[in-house]
Amino acid sequence: MNASLSTRELQALDSAHFIHPFTDTKALAAKGARIISKAEGIWITDREGHRILDGMSGLWCVNVGYGRTELADAAHRQMAELPYYNSFFQTTTEPSILLAAKLAELSPGFSRVFFSGSGSEGNDTVLRLVRHYWSVMGQPKRSTIISRWNAYHGSTVAGASLGGMKYMHEQGGLPIPGIAHIDQPYWVEHGHGMDREAFGKLAASWLEDKILELGPENVGAFIGEPVQGAGGVIIPPASYWTEIERICRKYDILIVADEVICGFGRLGSWWGSQRMGFKPDLMTFAKGVTSGYFPLGGVMVGDRVGEAIVEKGGEFEHGYTYSGHPVACAVALANLDIIEREGLVQRVAEVTGPRLRKGFAALADHPLVAEPEALGFVAGLVLAKEKGGPADGPGFVPFAPELGVGMVCRQHCFDNGLVMRAVGDRMIVAPPLCMTEDEVDELLRRIRYCLDRTYEDVRARGWC
Ligand code: PMP
Repeated sequence: MNASLSTRELQALDSAHFIHPFTDTKALAAKGARIISKAEGIWITDREGHRILDGMSGLWCVNVGYGRTELADAAHRQMAELPYYNSFFQTTTEPSILLAAKLAELSPGFSRVFFSGSGSEGNDTVLRLVRHYWSVMGQPKRSTIISRWNAYHGSTVAGASLGGMKYMHEQGGLPIPGIAHIDQPYWVEHGHGMDREAFGKLAASWLEDKILELGPENVGAFIGEPVQGAGGVIIPPASYWTEIERICRKYDILIVADEVICGFGRLGSWWGSQRMGFKPDLMTFAKGVTSGYFPLGGVMVGDRVGEAIVEKGGEFEHGYTYSGHPVACAVALANLDIIEREGLVQRVAEVTGPRLRKGFAALADHPLVAEPEALGFVAGLVLAKEKGGPADGPGFVPFAPELGVGMVCRQHCFDNGLVMRAVGDRMIVAPPLCMTEDEVDELLRRIRYCLDRTYEDVRARGWC
């Protein structure tokens, strides 16, 4: 840290040299980026000393909260002893072995793991692994992977192609061939007037339609986030995943759960797929494995795929310099130890998650709020212009998208000490799993306060 530079000077350097992810860098330069300088527990502090409750756990990753000296100590010890060695060329390191074994212990039916440096690289690995598996099994034609519109699977070429963000596809000619998309199980968008569980089955049937359109003999896998995160915390009806599983098994298609957000306790279970009641063949992970303290990702390989590629597959021509990075693995082991020792998964399932859910349900009385919902430690609501509307509608009248009401609300949150994310007019949170009950209440108080400020603002603008 260079304390001799002022915030303005740092912002000028940032604007001149740093192209930010998912950012209009020119627009940001005119305004100046907020510089976060320290953090403790669930609180981040900017350079001007404002304390902000981090309702998003950074980018859905700081599961154990900030300021855990055990993780810094684990990194320091490992860096002093062996800062780096690779896992190519018949070598390995102790932390990567121990982490692989620990992850297998936490994941019944998944004896093996492939390490990457991020979730995106994990999904690139998935694409190659699925195709390699089917090739080893003598069915190389099964190369197509089906995903969903509005899914997020990363920013690398394969990750963004597997993802269903059309605005990402438009930049750079994506998706790559061999990837198909179906609609997401979002009741508000597609389920009007339908019973939610019946809608879940309908949304799953779109997978069967797509498989039949492509020919089952050409389809290798279906990939989905148990609960879509970046797409706006889309919690599918309970019927959805069990039906997806039935369809995939019927046509012998692999199921890939992208657990980058949902893994490591976010939904009140070690893996989101456990909470949603299905058994995938592969699981991508990242974020919560180190609580974001060090970059690490990977793919949990279920025994069906693992045994085939290890027994029959020969060399898997794939790997990253940082696959099994010893410092990342040492930090992950210390992080998993905290999650287990403090019983965070169970606390989210039984105590703090239900409290968040109840608090979100209570926001339904707010004049701006429609469809508040929560599961474990993810939650979302829609900012609505009006409640009610036609019987075959979503039960509210939306704002015109071009007004950007979500961004207005996000700004009120920032200005009032709360990080809440806007996805269109859906406001979402994914708080650190270490939250106490009082901290959940504080989060809910701040959300209501910021919704009140947003409501005053949109009324003053004449938008409702
Ligand atoms: N998959 C999901 C479900 C994600 O949410 C993300 C990141 N938000 C990724 C993949 C990509 O992970 P990374 O940013 O570590 O590459």
